[in-house]
Amino acid sequence: MKRRKIFAGNWKMFKTYSEAVELVNGLNAGLKKTEGREYVVFPPSPYLREISSLCASSPFETGAQNMYFENQGAFTGEISPVMVKDCGASLILIGHSERRHVFHETDEEVNKKVKAAITHGIQPMLCVGELLEEREKGETVSVLNRQIRGAYAGVEKSDAAKISIAYEPVWAIGTGKVATPEMAEEAHMSIRAIMKELYGDDIAAAVPILYGGSVKPDNIAGLVKMENIDGVLVGGASLEVKSFLDIINV
Ligand code: PEP
Repeated sequence: MKRRKIFAGNWKMFKTYSEAVELVNGLNAGLKKTEGREYVVFPPSPYLREISSLCASSPFETGAQNMYFENQGAFTGEISPVMVKDCGASLILIGHSERRHVFHETDEEVNKKVKAAITHGIQPMLCVGELLEEREKGETVSVLNRQIRGAYAGVEKSDAAKISIAYEPVWAIGTGKVATPEMAEEAHMSIRAIMKELYGDDIAAAVPILYGGSVKPDNIAGLVKMENIDGVLVGGASLEVKSFLDIINV
């Protein structure tokens, strides 16, 4: 089955405004678009509108790194789905490990954000993944089960098709320890099996599952060769024009 392939860069809380513009201009100039691939950048929210307009006539789409689930209100410091849309973004990262583990975001909040994104026509990219101690205790599949069932609770089948999943083992994020292509493939197969139980064969076969965790130019080729790896979510290596282009032009 032909699935969507998505190559995405998460800029986290890095870059000044002029550095962000320089980065996106470099990416737009150097991208060698491959048919059937989608490209996304997730800039810091203060630059989202400008980066979205710089990408408007390019193959890059933009997404926000986080949002609150309410439309508006007295929620100081938060941004809403309405604002994300208004800034020209079409995707939203939900449940990134830094949100879960630094800011203690729960599966319930992740679920509310997924539903809010769908209501507003923003594509959720749902991040899931286990801690090192969970992997060592053999709990990887049960963690994925809990995170996925939590995130999709109450989500209709027709809406489930709008969500992509990024498998990001927490021990591999920003650590330089990449999962081997075989380890990632095994986790992606488990995710597809969970999706099959929840929504059936067609959704399980169609959901794009990206790998994230220390993806670099020297390990991308082995990862994208795997049958169940439908692209990558890149943090550190998406912050420089050359290294991100070396990954997405592979
Ligand atoms: C990420 O931020 O989602 C990520 C995978 O980071 P890194 O590539 O730096 O490990």
